Amino acid sequence: MKKRQKIECTMVALLAWTVFCAMVAPTAAEAKKLMVVTSTTDMAALAQEVGGDRIEVESIAKGYQDPHFVEAKPSFLLRLRRADLLIHVGLQLEIGWLPPLITQSGNPRIQMGAPGNLDASRFAEILEIAQGTVTRAEGDVHPFGNPHYWLDPDNGRRIARGIANKLADLDPGNSAFFQQRFQDFDKRLSAAEQKWDADMKPWRGRKVVTYHRSFPNFAKHFGLDVIAYVEPRPGIPPTPGHTIEVIQLMKRENCKVVLVEPYFDLKTPQSIGREAGAQVVVYLPSVGGEKQVTNYIELFNHNIGLLIKAFQPNH
Ligand SMILES: [Zn+2]
Repeated sequence: MKKRQKIECTMVALLAWTVFCAMVAPTAAEAKKLMVVTSTTDMAALAQEVGGDRIEVESIAKGYQDPHFVEAKPSFLLRLRRADLLIHVGLQLEIGWLPPLITQSGNPRIQMGAPGNLDASRFAEILEIAQGTVTRAEGDVHPFGNPHYWLDPDNGRRIARGIANKLADLDPGNSAFFQQRFQDFDKRLSAAEQKWDADMKPWRGRKVVTYHRSFPNFAKHFGLDVIAYVEPRPGIPPTPGHTIEVIQLMKRENCKVVLVEPYFDLKTPQSIGREAGAQVVVYLPSVGGEKQVTNYIELFNHNIGLLIKAFQPNH
C-alpha cells in the first residue's frame, strides 16, 4: 500500500469511528430529557407532539378513565417527585385528586404557581363560564367554565403552542426543536381539520344528547346542537323523571343520537335510545380511550367516523 493510500485509509477509519461514536453515545439533549407528567392522556399526547424525543412524558389518568375521579398509583408520586413539568387541564377538572398529589410530591418545581406547573386551560377557548354564584347543589359544576375544552382542534393547536413555549422556557437549548415540532403538528392538524370540517359539513345542525357535558367545544366547532344531557346535572346520576323529559324532548326535536363517554353505565342511555328511537354511540373523550387511538389527530378521526356512521340515513 502506498503511503498516501495508507493515510487516506486511516482517515476514513477515524471518520467512521467518529460517526459510530456519535451514534452510540448519548447526546447532551438525550442526557437531560425533560420529565413531563400530565394529568390526562390528551395533554400527554399534545406534549409528545411538540416534545418529541427530547421529553419523557406520562399521563396519570388513563384514556378510558373518568378524569373527574382518578386513583393515582403510588408510582406516580415518584414520577411527580422527579418531574420538571406538570401539565393539567385545570378549571377544577382534577380538583378531587390532583392537588393532594402535588403537595405530597414535595417537588417545588411543580407546585401551583411554580414555572413547572402548567394549567393548559389558559391557552384554550373556554365555554359555559358560570354567571353569578354557583353552589354544589347545582351538581358537580365547574364554576370557571367547562373543563372538557380539548375536543376542539383549534384548542388543541393553542394548547400545543403553549406547551412548546413552556418546554422552550424550561430547556432553551432545544427551543428551535420544540418550535419546529409545533410547526409540523400545526400543519398536520390543519390538513386533518380541513377533512373533518368537510366530512361533518352535511351534518351541521344535527341534534345530539350527551351523557355528561363533555362535548360543548366539539359541538361548537363542528356545528352540532347538544339539546340535553342524560345526567340531570353535571356529576349527578340519571333520575327517572329527568330521563322521561329527555326522551320527550328527543322525540319532539327529532334527535336520533345519544353520545356516551366510555366510563358511564349504558343502562339509562340504552333505555332512552329504545324509547326515542335513537342510536347510542360510545364516543371517546380522550386519547387512549381505545388502544388504537394513540394520538390527538386519531381521536378526532375516530369520533368523526362514529358520528358520520350514526348520522347516515340508513340508520
Ligand atoms: Zn365534567
